[in-house]
Amino acid sequence: MSEGTKLLEQTRNLIKECIDELGVNPSVYEYMKEPRKTIIVNIPVKMDDGTVKSFTGYRVQHNNALGPYKGGIRFHPNADLDEVKALATLMTLKTAIIEGVPFGGGKGGVTVDPKKLSQSELQRLSRGYIRAISLFIGTKKDIPAPDVNTNPQIMAWMADEYSYIRRQAEHEIITGKPIEIGGSKGRTQATSRGLMFVAQKACELIGINFEGSEVVIQGFGNVGGNAAILFHEAGAKVIAVSDVEGAIYNRNGLDIPELIKYNKQYGTIATYPDAKQITNEELLELECDILAPCALENQITKENAPRIKAKIIAEGANGPTTAEADKILEEKGILICPDVIANAGGVVVSYLEWVQGNYHFQWKEETVNAELYEKIVPAFEKIYNFAQERKISMRRSAFMVGIKRLADVMEIRGWLSK
Ligand code: GLU
Repeated sequence: MSEGTKLLEQTRNLIKECIDELGVNPSVYEYMKEPRKTIIVNIPVKMDDGTVKSFTGYRVQHNNALGPYKGGIRFHPNADLDEVKALATLMTLKTAIIEGVPFGGGKGGVTVDPKKLSQSELQRLSRGYIRAISLFIGTKKDIPAPDVNTNPQIMAWMADEYSYIRRQAEHEIITGKPIEIGGSKGRTQATSRGLMFVAQKACELIGINFEGSEVVIQGFGNVGGNAAILFHEAGAKVIAVSDVEGAIYNRNGLDIPELIKYNKQYGTIATYPDAKQITNEELLELECDILAPCALENQITKENAPRIKAKIIAEGANGPTTAEADKILEEKGILICPDVIANAGGVVVSYLEWVQGNYHFQWKEETVNAELYEKIVPAFEKIYNFAQERKISMRRSAFMVGIKRLADVMEIRGWLSK
């Protein structure tokens, strides 16, 4: 069973349980168990050596009760249909949890290892993907964004291609673009900043001083790398980080600015000299205040959960904790900040980018960051309070908050009753 299939199954199961427990109209499940539309495309790409290679791409449109489908595009060798479906479902919940973000949930993926492509091959693949799904997306229909292994440059190629197809400037089709072509200030760091806001609030709730707290981060991509910078700048002590090549640890705190420089130069942090090299497994089990898994799904499992010693888990990645692990961590009294709220900063600022794009206006970064705080922290507190009231886990609470809002909107739109 692929990691994506596992994530899809556990997400569906929890949705079903939450619908039953909430007592909302059971028909909501009929809208949530499967996406509204699944698009699978074959993307032939001319390679630099003159041959043609084809790649499989997906766009899954899960639910649009609240507004246009919204979600990132992942380039990864393990991306498969079930993974994209699961991630699209999580997007539906994410946008439903945050009030004032009028989006539904969607996700895209291409099965590819982008590290094996040259820049020009990557550009042709990105443009080919957008061409293949262009009929199904739109600034009021479905708005893609970055995800694992995709970045502002890739978004720029995609926005350019879409504008070319439409024969008019339509950069609002995509968020997470470079500022030069209508991106928002603060978008690149938004997921990590939201994660930090949530982690800070979590510390406050359980009486940990965020400044000086010990933080372990799994993953050093856009989310993990920026989380390391922001947590460090805010006074936390980042003691361990990892990337696909390995993990490093320094109990006295890593010198994050130096580490960032090192990563730029060598393309990995795994060989950084001023730290102890450890395995990714050891990293997850380190004693710390905050563990932030910011890589891929199913990293915290029933095998390693009993050995996790963090006090707070702040999920920068989507689906990093399996359902079985969730139960174990809960019994251990670890405060989990679930993905659908902890990493929602990205989509919140994507919304702000979309608003700015539609008005052809640019806000200051402080305005964006303040708006992000206003949207994410009260939503997190609501989930925390609901979990306390109902004596349920944080993930269950988050799912319930999102499902309740979706059920209300579906009812108003006339999707549920006769
Ligand atoms: N890929 C990000 C996520 O999983 C951002 C999505 C977006 O901005 O639309 O939330």
